[in-house]
Amino acid sequence: MDLFLTCGRGTGGLPVSDSLGIVEPARSILVTGGAGYVGSHACKALAAAGYTPVVFDNFENGHDWAVRWGPGVVGDLADTVLLARTIAEHDVVAVLHFAAHAYVGESMVDPGKYYRNNVAGTISLLDAMKSAGVEKLVFSSSCATYGVPEAVPISECTPQRPVNPYGESKLCVERMLDWHGRAGTLRWIALRYFNAAGADPAGDIGEVHDPETHLLPLVIQAALGKRDAIRVFGTDYPTPDGTCVRDYIHVSDLARAHTAALDYLLRGGESAAFNLGTGRGYSVREVIEAVRRVSRRPVPVEEAPRREGDPPVLVADASKARSVLGWHPQFDTLDAIVKTAYNWHS
Ligand code: UDP
Repeated sequence: MDLFLTCGRGTGGLPVSDSLGIVEPARSILVTGGAGYVGSHACKALAAAGYTPVVFDNFENGHDWAVRWGPGVVGDLADTVLLARTIAEHDVVAVLHFAAHAYVGESMVDPGKYYRNNVAGTISLLDAMKSAGVEKLVFSSSCATYGVPEAVPISECTPQRPVNPYGESKLCVERMLDWHGRAGTLRWIALRYFNAAGADPAGDIGEVHDPETHLLPLVIQAALGKRDAIRVFGTDYPTPDGTCVRDYIHVSDLARAHTAALDYLLRGGESAAFNLGTGRGYSVREVIEAVRRVSRRPVPVEEAPRREGDPPVLVADASKARSVLGWHPQFDTLDAIVKTAYNWHS
């Protein structure tokens, strides 16, 4: 496919001036999946930190309106040649890798799609990076790699035993990165997200999935009358109110963790994996209550059976990211996260 440029409304990365006042051009970072939900927020954070994000996206799930902080290239991860050409043409110094399929349910019925895109796609990306001489990668991993943990909070040492092909595909990539690292051809960071939620506080970008399967946007749609009710999947879990507990982390906090990880790699930091969450869990019912409070609207609720593959409680121990990367979530209450999402959706 051909290159296209969408520098549009954004300013891109600003030139960086060092202590002697010498101005250098902003360093380019390839962002695969940069037109998607977390990827686009990371592009905004990169630009704010002085980098130029170069988005590489097939726009199957991404949005052209979300490419605002640097050039965009339409392409598929399987296209190793185009990836290598993009890296060379934009003088890319490192890669943030978001591009992936991310529907757990779909992965259960079509696992091949997840191995092909998420695993084989990453092999293609690593080949392209190798041929272009780029050796630093920040990878979007997931708490889905832990499966059903024996204990919470989950630290990076918790055994990784995924219970669906999506989580398995993310774990395969982590293992692949580790072996490339041991071979001396890559330095990498895997960021294991807990539940990404919320939207850019300035309202520039936000969450739009089709189909939407995530709890918070669905609850907000129910509050706004865009769907009849929110279905609560399972009310008999061994949790205080019987519904599943998750660690909701604001998407802009996730985005800042990527720039912190990138800075760390560029400073010579060692390859590593980090959990990203707030360390505080909220139940499905608590999320619904938060949307009622923030929106001041009723939220019709329907109780439904459990959804296959849902662990009862997933809460992060993210102390390693705090101590090593110096990263701290700025949105530390559920209401603060819900407000940004509600503003975006309404
Ligand atoms: N959930 C729910 N109703 C929905 C969507 C999700 O009750 O319509 C629950 C789901 O069972 C899980 C939690 O909300 O316990 C978060 O689900 P989501 O799909 O947002 O993220 P996941 O934890 O699967 O990554």
